Amino acid sequence: MTPSIGRVVVLLGAPGAGKGTQAQILSERLGLAHVATGDLFRAAVRDETPLGVTAKGYMDRGELVPDAVTIEMLLERLAKPDAEAGILLDGFPRNTAQAEVLDKALGDKGGRVDVAPYIEVPEADLVARLGGRWICRAGGHPYHELSKPSQKPGICDVDGSELYQRSDDQPATVQARLRQQLGALDTVVDYYRGHDVLRVVDGQQAIDKVTADLLAAIAPATGSRG
Ligand code: ADP
Ligand code: AMP
Repeated sequence: MTPSIGRVVVLLGAPGAGKGTQAQILSERLGLAHVATGDLFRAAVRDETPLGVTAKGYMDRGELVPDAVTIEMLLERLAKPDAEAGILLDGFPRNTAQAEVLDKALGDKGGRVDVAPYIEVPEADLVARLGGRWICRAGGHPYHELSKPSQKPGICDVDGSELYQRSDDQPATVQARLRQQLGALDTVVDYYRGHDVLRVVDGQQAIDKVTADLLAAIAPATGSRG
């Protein structure tokens, strides 16, 4: 029997827009599996798997990892049992080739992208957000030294693990990531606008306000499905 899939939400936004922050809140509230390709790549790099060895050079240069590798990893993740309840994608798709493969894979499971909320943040703010970002080793929970500091310095509020700064959040790599990835993001935004599932949310608001706007955008699109 072909495995089925529930609701599918694609969270869009530039690097630093707040996808990871919001995905952790929304996945819990909505009962969706949080699938972040950046987290999957970082785990593979940490574990020094063949996938991690391939991905590391691209990540260090701020480039997208090639589609063949990324898509294979994503499809393996979608085959896991927890995806049947529905998924919240964070960081995938990053170009239209990935978006097309996703549509095909979901179609094979009787699903589709229900809604693609786009957290819109101007480029100047992205640089400040990425430069001040700290994330925890255990669960990838994101903090910011100014806008969202942890209660105890250097320690995650959620799981007590150590906070660290991603090597690709250094200023030179941030510039490279934005230069190389923002154009592709525009094509993905256009793709979902063309499929009538794009919902633009103002990402310059406080975190809880962004969450409220995302929930308001997602609910009408997913309310009637699984
Ligand atoms: P992404 O997953 O899109 O790269 P993150 O969720 O990691 O982005 O957020 C990037 C940085 O911006 C983090 O340091 C996070 O704490 C901070 N941040 C997230 N949302 C907001 C917001 N609405 N206002 C201010 N800072 C935010
Ligand atoms: P992120 O955590 O989403 O900022 O991703 C970190 C890095 O992982 C990116 O800069 C890319 O090198 C790589 N990456 C994550 N998701 C993808 C994807 N869908 N396609 C290609 N590369 C990706």
